[in-house]
This record gives sequence, C-alpha cells and structure tokens, in this order.
Amino acid sequence: IYILAVESSCDETAASVVRNGREVLSNIIYSQIDLHTLYGGVVPEIASRKHIEKVNQVIEKALSDAGITLEEVTAVAVTYGPGLVGALLVGVSAAKAIAFAADKPLVGVHHIEGHISANFIENKELEPPFICLVVSGGHSHLVVVKDYGEYEIIGRTRDDAAGEAFDKVARAIGLGYPGGPKIDKVSKEGNPDAIVFPRAKVDGSTYDFSFSGLKSAVLNYLNSCEMKGIEVNQADVAASFQKAVIDVLVGHSMEAVSQYHLNKFAIAGGVASNTSLRAAFEKACRDKGLEFYHPSPVYCTDNAAMIGVAGYYEYCKGTRHGWDLNAVPNLKLGERI
Ligand code: ATP
Ligand code: MG
Ligand code: FE
Repeated sequence: IYILAVESSCDETAASVVRNGREVLSNIIYSQIDLHTLYGGVVPEIASRKHIEKVNQVIEKALSDAGITLEEVTAVAVTYGPGLVGALLVGVSAAKAIAFAADKPLVGVHHIEGHISANFIENKELEPPFICLVVSGGHSHLVVVKDYGEYEIIGRTRDDAAGEAFDKVARAIGLGYPGGPKIDKVSKEGNPDAIVFPRAKVDGSTYDFSFSGLKSAVLNYLNSCEMKGIEVNQADVAASFQKAVIDVLVGHSMEAVSQYHLNKFAIAGGVASNTSLRAAFEKACRDKGLEFYHPSPVYCTDNAAMIGVAGYYEYCKGTRHGWDLNAVPNLKLGERI
C-alpha cells in the first residue's frame, strides 16, 4: 500500500510517499521559516500564499523521489486540521484535486495523530498501547495511545503550549524566531540551576500543564535585572527556563506511565527534538525500566511522512473522506469529521 501524503497546516509545505505504513520512500519539506523570521513568527496570509506556490512542486518531487507514479498510489492522505485555516485549505484542495483526478481514495488526517505516528517510522517494533507526550508549537498533550487511531488525552496545557513558551522566551531574551532550536543551542553554554523558575502545578489535575506562569517569571526576572542594572546572562536564563519546562514534562509523564501501567513511552512534536529534553527522558525511562521511543528530529517538526503513516492506519481502518472534505482549524484528536 502506497500513501501519498500532503501537509500544509502551518509554515511547512510537505509531501511524502510511505509504503505499508512504516517505510518512508520520500520526504519533501519546503520550510518557509526564512520568510517568517522577518516578522518574528508565522504570518498566516504569507504562509497560505507560499503554500500555493510550492504545493504542486513538492508533491511532484515526493512522487519522483519515491520512484512511483500517481497511478501506483493507493490513497491520498492530507492534514485537514488543526492548524491555520488558509494554510490547511491549500493542502486539502491540492490533495482533493489529485485524488479526484487519479480516482484514488482520500483520507483526511489529524495533524497531531501525524506527530504521534512519526514514532512508527524508525521504531518498527513499536505498537500500541503506549503513552505519548506531544509537545509542539501549538499543543502540549499527554496521550494514551490505546490502539492505532484511538487516543485518550489525559493531560493538556491550560494556557501556552511548550513550543510557544520556548518561542516567547527566546524572543524576550533576544534570540529571535524560531526560538526552540536557539534556546536548545545556547542552553549548552549556560547553567540550568542559575535561576530557579517555578514548576507550575495545575489545580484539580495531575497531568495538565501550564507554561504561562513560567513565561511571566522569565519576563519578571529580565525586568528586575534591568531595573537593578544587572547584566542578563542569556545562556543561564535559557538553560534555567528549559530545565523548568523539562522537569514538569518529565514529572507528569512518568506519573502517567506509572498510573496507567504501561511500559512504553514516546515523545512527539517539534519540542521533542530538544536535545536536553531527550536526554532527560532517556534517563527517566532507563531509571524506571521503560522503553523510550522518539522520532529523529526531522520527523519531530512538521513533515508529511508522519501524515503518510497516520494516513495508512486510518486507511486500513476504513477512514475515507468525500470531495467535500474541508479544513477544520480546531479539529480534536480522535474526532472524525
Ligand atoms: P502544532 O503541531 O501544535 O500544530 P507546529 O506544527 O507549529 O504546531 P511543530 O512543527 O511540531 O509545531 O514544532 C514547532 C515548535 O517546536 C516550535 O515552537 C519550535 O520552537 C519548537 N522546537 C523545534 N525545535 C526545538 C528544539 N530543539 N527545542 C525546543 N523546541 C523546539
Ligand atoms: Mg513549522
Ligand atoms: Fe506540528
């Protein structure tokens, strides 16, 4: 089974061909990052326009790199939510046109289901059930993956997503956009214990996250340094902030793994490519005797291969979408519209 997958939910225009669910034959990503860096974040209107310019090229390259023709494709999978509506619509329209013209089934995929499924690419033995921490630009979810396509969200963020917190703090300390990778890098020069930032607990839930208080604590710290005329050590702030985020993510995740009696744990989403976070989970899982799974960095941030994997399992479950498939910007995980 060959899935041609298309992804355009944010600022990456991507297409991929995946064979039998776990073998990536091509993975083409056109990143618009340079374009949005000028503005310090993703500008939706610019993202949509660039997707329109690139989507057909990226799809053609995915097919040619995979060495197959559209005729040989079994089904076309596309991200239809959540994400920026104008950006999603470009991929959805392109996928619908191709599937219609080539007379192939169309399978709409949830973007976060894609992020989770990225773990199946390089870990051929991984099968549900397991617990997955999804930490991306817009989401922080602790998910019980009960079966393929079956999810229970047991923890979520009450305010900012983890990636959002990285991006906002990076901007505040003058690192610019995109913040995550930059904080990751400068943190290596800093002392993670230099400043004690709060590890937020959320009332009434063991697994929910809150990162806005941490972000405020960083801003307050920067302000107080300015007022006292103390020079800010960028690397120390970055490392201390990063450690506060990681401590909370590891704490909640390990608690969940114990409660649910599962011995497999995975991470997903752009923040999952953070080197200190990976090291911290590696250690926590080893200490607890858990199998730890994580995608390579290229499969952590947005890509279409992960959509091809999720699309394969959806296809096998019988998920099919009609030519009226629309973008659903606030699509819930596990919801099928
Ligand atoms: P979502 O998947 O929630 O819709 P998104 O698609 O924009 O959001 P991803 O592409 O999964 O998010 O991830 C992008 C986020 O990951 C950004 O916030 C970025 O700063 C963060 N990120 C990327 N690399 C790293 C890193 N090494 N360390 C920390 N954060 C990182
Ligand atoms: Mg992106
Ligand atoms: Fe994403």
